[in-house]
Amino acid sequence: MSELDMQDSGAGAESARGPAFRPAGANAPRVMVVEDETSLATLLAYNLEAEGYLVERIERGDEAELRLQEAPPDLLVLDWMLPGASGLEICRRLRARDATRSLPVIMLTARGEESERVRGLSTGADDYVVKPFSVPELMARVRSLLRRARPERIAGRLKMGDISLDRETRRVRRGDRDIHLGPTEFRLLEFLLEKPGRVFSRSQLLDSLWDISAEIDERTVDVHVGRLRKALVRGRERDPIRTVRGAGYSLDETFGKV
Ligand code: CA
Repeated sequence: MSELDMQDSGAGAESARGPAFRPAGANAPRVMVVEDETSLATLLAYNLEAEGYLVERIERGDEAELRLQEAPPDLLVLDWMLPGASGLEICRRLRARDATRSLPVIMLTARGEESERVRGLSTGADDYVVKPFSVPELMARVRSLLRRARPERIAGRLKMGDISLDRETRRVRRGDRDIHLGPTEFRLLEFLLEKPGRVFSRSQLLDSLWDISAEIDERTVDVHVGRLRKALVRGRERDPIRTVRGAGYSLDETFGKV
């Protein structure tokens, strides 16, 4: 009982779940589709990939929340009714975290009560589409939201001085050597590279980079910043991370410039 008004796209043989990355341009925007209706998710993934986006499909709300903390995409297509956590809850939590506050979200709603509620409520979504909808219309909205989005979220690669981070390949380099980071250090560096110069308190970093429900001591942040520094700085190389006494950490905005 698909709610979709499109014909079968012939994409039925696509793998059903899990991250499905395809070769696309290194700077291809990443779109996460969170939808528990398999036929619709398949159709959306097929069409988004055909437009050159890197698509990740998730069927459960709670699973989506974990992935959104680990590796936020450039745009989220989010169903309203989901097992595990609703699209509305997910959206609210995204807006409460610095790292995902401005992540573009298109909410999918079913015709009927939910769509009336979603219209009336402040969901935090940038756009919403009522099922059944036409796929070309959704694609147009995806394109337009991505154009409006922050350009640094679209960039597949973040760079400062001789340090570069590639979101797609998950590679970090300093000069001509590879830097091997754990997942937390990678997120931390990615987060700092997005806003050079801005000082983040330990609790802001915790909220943005860790599962907020986990009981984590703020000193954990110091441990991971220490590991990141150790990985990035060799010998007499300059330390790109500034410790601001009593305030927190930032990426030194003068790094690589003086
Ligand atoms: Ca649903």
